Amino acid sequence: MKKIDVVIIGGGPIGIACGIEAEKKNLSYLILEKGCIVNSLYNYPQGMTFFSTSDKLEIDNIPFISNNVKPVKSEALEYYRRIADSKNLNINLFEKVTGVKKVKENFKVNTSRSTYFAKNVVIATGFYDIPNLINIPGEHLPKVSHYYKDPHFYAGQKVVVVGASNSAVDAALEIYRKGGDVTMVIREKGIGERVKYWVRPDIINRIQEGDIKAYYSAEIKEIKEGKVIINTLEKIITIDNDYVLALTGYKPNFDFLQKAGIEISNDEKRLPQYNNDTMETNVKGMYLAGVVCGGMETHKWFIENSRIHAPLIMQDIKLKK
Ligand SMILES: Cc1cc2nc3c(=O)[nH]c(=O)nc-3n(C[C@H](O)[C@H](O)[C@H](O)COP(=O)(O)OP(=O)(O)OC[C@H]3O[C@@H](n4cnc5c(N)ncnc54)[C@H](O)[C@@H]3O)c2cc1C
Repeated sequence: MKKIDVVIIGGGPIGIACGIEAEKKNLSYLILEKGCIVNSLYNYPQGMTFFSTSDKLEIDNIPFISNNVKPVKSEALEYYRRIADSKNLNINLFEKVTGVKKVKENFKVNTSRSTYFAKNVVIATGFYDIPNLINIPGEHLPKVSHYYKDPHFYAGQKVVVVGASNSAVDAALEIYRKGGDVTMVIREKGIGERVKYWVRPDIINRIQEGDIKAYYSAEIKEIKEGKVIINTLEKIITIDNDYVLALTGYKPNFDFLQKAGIEISNDEKRLPQYNNDTMETNVKGMYLAGVVCGGMETHKWFIENSRIHAPLIMQDIKLKK
């Protein structure tokens, strides 16, 4: 069976950048993506605005023209889809990689549809598929979601938003503006410092004005049909509730990484082991690219600073060929 020079797992912005770079280096490659093209971005909230300017989201120096100071989700989808199209990228969509195994000097890549043999593998699977659970009773109820899509659905509803990061703040503001009754439950003492600088004053003002209720240094204790129990600074309270958005972040698929043989640090950061100069992991010929590199520190890597991984990796693979 013909061996591919490099199989790239994940068709997000960085997986795409890896494919383009492989092509430029005359390496045979195949991108395997379990969903649609840039699947994570597709699943971001409908009206989401990036914190980066469009030039910082560009790959391979292909201009990203936006009509806004900061691009919105629909523009980013258009941008990456057009790149995949015009570059005629070798990408299989809706094909999930179920496991990667090193067999002698090569890799056997099993998917939902087939098996491939590759000399190298790049894992660019991001972190958006696995939410950080709060692990409280009732979290499994249908009224609870760890993903926020669109505010219209919540009009006239009592919504608890858990968290105080960008995702939580965007959701709280949008739902409030579409007529939802929003209560934020925030573990920290205030709104996250990393919240987009032009959004932060807005949420702080809405809370101060009483438009959005917020409990700081508080934790949600239990979710019931029609109710939520919150441990606030002063006392435990029960409030009426229709929906809960638990926007407490996401994490990489550590199980997948470990089964592939990648070592993960034992501390709370859970950092995968890789060489900063080449992105090669402790498994020879297996590389990490994009935000998956950050372990639990998902805020450390984004498109802006991880697009560089693509040339680093392909240069190393070419050198070793
Ligand atoms: C709400 C939000 C806003 C953000 N805003 C910005 C911003 O303004 N600027 C910025 O630079 N970054 C931003 N980020 C971060 C950045 O968008 C993402 O981190 C970016 O998508 C990372 O690209 P990636 O290719 O590494 O991972 P992803 O885009 O997550 O791509 C990983 C891909 O791998 C696929 N996949 C996973 N497992 C498998 C498998 N087993 N088999 C096959 N395919 C698989 C997934 O479906 C996905 O398409 C934001 C993130 C979020 C959540």
